[in-house]
Amino acid sequence: MRNGMIKKINLVCLVLLAGVTANSQSYNKLHQKAILVDTHNDVLSSAVLDGKDISHRIAEGHSDLPRFKEGGVDIQFFSVFTGPDARNKEGVFKDANQEIDSLESIVSRNRDRMILATDYKKVKVGLRQKKLVALIGVEGGHMIEEDMQKLETLYNRGMRYMTLTWNNSTNWASSAMDETLNPDRLKQKGLTDFGKQVVRRMNELGVIVDLSHTGEQTFYDAIAVTNKPVLLSHSSVWSICPVFRNVKDDQIKAVAKNGGVICINFYSGFISKEFDQRSEWLKGPGKKIFQDSLFSVAKDSAVMKMRWHEYYQEELEKVRPTIAQLADHIDYIVKLVGDDYAGIGADYDGVGSLPIGMEDVTTYPKITEELLKRGYSKKSIKKILGKNVLRVMRANLKYAVAGK
Ligand SMILES: [Zn+2]
Repeated sequence: MRNGMIKKINLVCLVLLAGVTANSQSYNKLHQKAILVDTHNDVLSSAVLDGKDISHRIAEGHSDLPRFKEGGVDIQFFSVFTGPDARNKEGVFKDANQEIDSLESIVSRNRDRMILATDYKKVKVGLRQKKLVALIGVEGGHMIEEDMQKLETLYNRGMRYMTLTWNNSTNWASSAMDETLNPDRLKQKGLTDFGKQVVRRMNELGVIVDLSHTGEQTFYDAIAVTNKPVLLSHSSVWSICPVFRNVKDDQIKAVAKNGGVICINFYSGFISKEFDQRSEWLKGPGKKIFQDSLFSVAKDSAVMKMRWHEYYQEELEKVRPTIAQLADHIDYIVKLVGDDYAGIGADYDGVGSLPIGMEDVTTYPKITEELLKRGYSKKSIKKILGKNVLRVMRANLKYAVAGK
């Protein structure tokens, strides 16, 4: 090769390299500058209650304080969760209080880099001080134990959103799981009068009505009653991935009309139809085929269980979605109703599989990169990363709560 040719190739390489660096700098710069709000993280239940200290980088799980920082997270709603069967004999309300105790203890040990916000003013203070702003979201209306006083108590302890249901229905609100998969088990569908009272009281107190996990009837009943914008803290798009608790086009349009926001859940099975179908097949006929084939070599059930688990994971690994597939959910909402109604509610530490490259809370900048690549304006990206949720927070939360 002649010298001139080599120089030319080197120059082309340099220009390309400069282009790549400039691009990575610009998306990182934009990402760090933007306010990133994630509306759903389950680390309180999965790590803290197991005694893991998220003040330091931990090997397991998806989240800890150093990694939130790396991912550019400014505001995080921590999910307070317990299933319908209480962990302790006093019941689910007590479980919720224990999780709030855990969060308070984390915040008190990390006052230099974290703040628990109970009003909008504190959110602003935390942002100004460049601390991680933590808020409490209670995941499941069952935790108020059908008692308005307990709703009030959880509010006084800092609850600033509550999903009306989790997968389980209450006597006053039906869940997406029950409305779709177990309709015969339902005593009633949608919100009862008490359920409507709960929504009204949440509006008055300044607790955001979260409609993730709720059935369609509950969703529409709540939208009709609320006088504030609603949140779907961790739900994806049904038209792309038709699973029971993703949101349909008419629901997306209703949220837009209400001025609310839908925050995309990153779980592979809510992002990719192929992943969901493979997972369902594996749990059903796939499991039987696998067990039959293994029976002659490993009769021991413990071995069988282990092999099955490995096989299940390997098979699902093959169909994990890409970041582009995740961004398709954002795109879908933006194309359907505009860029004011999409947000991020990843569900880190609450899900077993995530899109390739989105393995923990350090990876959020890749969404910014992907949206920039798709031609989104900086203004639009900032809305999706946080401003849309901030708008809903501002409309619901009190500006200042005395004595908090
Ligand atoms: Zn959930």
